[in-house]
Amino acid sequence: MNIFQEIKERLTLQEIVRAYGIELNRNDMCICPFHAEKTPSMKIYEKGFRCYGCGESGDTIEFVRKFFNLNNTLEAAHKINEDFGLGIQTDKRPTKSEVVSAQKIVQQRIEFEQRDKQAFFVFAEYFKVLQDYSKLRPESEYEVPDKRFVEYLQNFERLDYVMNRQIELLHNPMNERIAFLDDNQEYISNIAERLLEIRHEKEVVRETPAAEQTAKNIPPEQKTENKAQTAAQVGGYKIIGNTAYKNIRDKAYLKYSSALSPQIADRLDKTGIKFSGKSTSKMTTFTINKHDLESVRAIAADEAKKFTGRNKPQIIPSQKQMTAGIKRQSQSNEMTL
Ligand SMILES: [Zn+2]
Repeated sequence: MNIFQEIKERLTLQEIVRAYGIELNRNDMCICPFHAEKTPSMKIYEKGFRCYGCGESGDTIEFVRKFFNLNNTLEAAHKINEDFGLGIQTDKRPTKSEVVSAQKIVQQRIEFEQRDKQAFFVFAEYFKVLQDYSKLRPESEYEVPDKRFVEYLQNFERLDYVMNRQIELLHNPMNERIAFLDDNQEYISNIAERLLEIRHEKEVVRETPAAEQTAKNIPPEQKTENKAQTAAQVGGYKIIGNTAYKNIRDKAYLKYSSALSPQIADRLDKTGIKFSGKSTSKMTTFTINKHDLESVRAIAADEAKKFTGRNKPQIIPSQKQMTAGIKRQSQSNEMTL
């Protein structure tokens, strides 16, 4: 056991912060010493802390290091050792074999740090998402809850727990921290995948107001048909495709006008290319495997050539080109936006 672990075994961070004169409320929350605030938004755990206001977080040792503005965590550990009279012996010199293995570990550590940081960012981003979702609580028990609120209920506790574990282990030996990442590898990947999905959803949903705007601007005789179409779309879009979104590995996204998407979808089906799509009245986003990018682009280009409708659709392979496409359209006035 190293000095960091021993400190965390013998003292809780709650005890330490109280001893340093910080007041904790019943929920172990306190005024954050690292940013200016009037109401407590820092939670003190047994072996770590997290501020929900400024985002500072870390374990016991890191708290003391930051609080006293010390140069490194070893200084912080020594300070705790002295202030609390723990008497942990710290002047042990490393043996030769310890030095050799330490050198080997350097490379491993670099790789580990990268992985650990990525996991942290994934957790933190999902944490923010779930916090937003928590605000969608139904007003009465009879109301069908928003599925995002359900997602919050189903995932928040575990996420909070895993985030705290990661913080607690901050100064534990690397192999324990690697074991933590290994144990949670699948969980981390799943969250990362979900975050991609959420970004993708946002992208699609953002188009809905524009689609509604289009519906308002079209002549009355066309309006009825368009209304029905809109009603058929759940939450502003409909899902198309020949496989579930989650089944597509190495995702790539292509956007095409929804006037063209049925033909493209049909061709992909016949060619046996797996895809999942989200379709608004204006735009369809195809999710495909990266390896199929060129084939799908070729098919879409081909279908666009064949297309002879009044509103000849644009090929829009990326966000950047989408903006350019819209500019072109408004200049030539070929397509109602
Ligand atoms: Zn703070």
